[in-house]
Amino acid sequence: MSASRCYLDYNATSPLRLSAREACVAALDLAGNASSIHREGREARRFIEDARRRVGGLFAAAPEQVVFTSGATEAANLMLTPELASPTAPRGIRRLLVQATEHSAVLRGHRFAPDAVTLLRVRPDGVIDLTGLAEALASDGGSPALLALQAANNETGVLQPLREAADLVHASGGLVACDAVQVAGRVAVSLADTGVDVACLSGHKLGGPQGTGAVVLRKGIVLGPAVLRGGGQERGSRSGTENVAGIAGFGAAAAEAGETDGTGRLSELQKLLEKGLADVAADVVVFGAAAPRLPNTTCFAVPHTSAEVLLIALDLAGIAVSTGSACSSGKVSRSHVLEAMGVGPHLSQGALRVSTGWASTTDDIARFLDAFGAALRRMHKRPFAAAA
Ligand code: PLP
Repeated sequence: MSASRCYLDYNATSPLRLSAREACVAALDLAGNASSIHREGREARRFIEDARRRVGGLFAAAPEQVVFTSGATEAANLMLTPELASPTAPRGIRRLLVQATEHSAVLRGHRFAPDAVTLLRVRPDGVIDLTGLAEALASDGGSPALLALQAANNETGVLQPLREAADLVHASGGLVACDAVQVAGRVAVSLADTGVDVACLSGHKLGGPQGTGAVVLRKGIVLGPAVLRGGGQERGSRSGTENVAGIAGFGAAAAEAGETDGTGRLSELQKLLEKGLADVAADVVVFGAAAPRLPNTTCFAVPHTSAEVLLIALDLAGIAVSTGSACSSGKVSRSHVLEAMGVGPHLSQGALRVSTGWASTTDDIARFLDAFGAALRRMHKRPFAAAA
């Protein structure tokens, strides 16, 4: 990244950590296929198994509970299946309950028939409505359901009450699948403590290479049939010769994220940012401010502004932030997350997201605030057509 740039879009992707780059390069120099039993093969296998231990460590899970994939999208395709089973949910899952602010990688429901998928509402602060969850669990004769509930939202950073939701779901014989992409390495999460049965995560959000991810399973959970079938790698759950370099980089990033991302530093940056925003624009609204949030994410808007105009002005000033969901960026549409939270167009069309990470500094925040203030002044808060 150019030294003159100020990158504040870690929820879209994080710059590669040095340790991850070194691990990738070391693995690229290996000759062996990890399925081969000669020395070269065993060496490649060692890189993969080291990474498995480190990635499992993010969730206090043992290595055998980790299945590597090409990213969280593939991992979500793998875990969202009616065939997911556990000793406590032996009746067979019939339906999928999806929280309304899930990422599009989860919202589609994957291996569930469209008419078996129910969308669950969130409260205005972005937290799942647990009464609505209880009602949904009791419907359909109380048949066992899989709940898809993200740990943290990629746009607002709002954290979900995983334990409370999991207790309700387990009491009705169901299971919980969690998109843990944005929480991994930022907030300590243990599968056992949260009651999550299966989680998906992504290497590039925590400073590993793009195109890497994993499913992490609670002990005793059976994943169901593979999506990619063939040579039987990953104990039959995901066939195909492993991406050893990517996995090694993912493992190194997971180890470093777990060791160094205490909430303290990022929380301080967040406080600085949110205080500065209120100084720049007294009418700024921070979405999900009343809920527990990730320490690295602030999604906000000044009424009657245009996020695209602000984003371009900031980019010209050397600053990278995002409007709404940047995972499928390029297309500008109204955020389904803010819509589900009941945010009107006069605010949502001006919504920007600042997300920090391992290389962010107080200087980045100061630079952003200066440029944002200048862009706002230039815009003169001109009203725009809400439905445009
Ligand atoms: N889930 C969330 C919350 C995300 O932010 C993303 C971002 O892309 C994904 C899933 C998809 O991850 P991947 O890029 O590894 O497929």
